[in-house]
Amino acid sequence: MAKDIRVSEPSLEMQEKIKRARRAIASQKMRTVKCPYCQHNTIVVFEDTRGHVQAKCKRCGHETVFDVLSMRRLKLGFYQGG
Ligand SMILES: [Zn+2]
Repeated sequence: MAKDIRVSEPSLEMQEKIKRARRAIASQKMRTVKCPYCQHNTIVVFEDTRGHVQAKCKRCGHETVFDVLSMRRLKLGFYQGG
């Protein structure tokens, strides 16, 4: 099922943006969000990630939209309970 995907080098402007982004996240905490279907670590979010991200799980192929902020609140609520 090999798809014929053409890969080309990003433009110089884009490469510069990629480098800048890498530097920007170097000092940030990152956290992984697991796929709700197979528990595989599907996406990585950084401290400045806000709002919704969509990710397709590499393992099971499910596409899920995550609301990063609401998931953070969910996690906080977790510790208050009990
Ligand atoms: Zn999955």
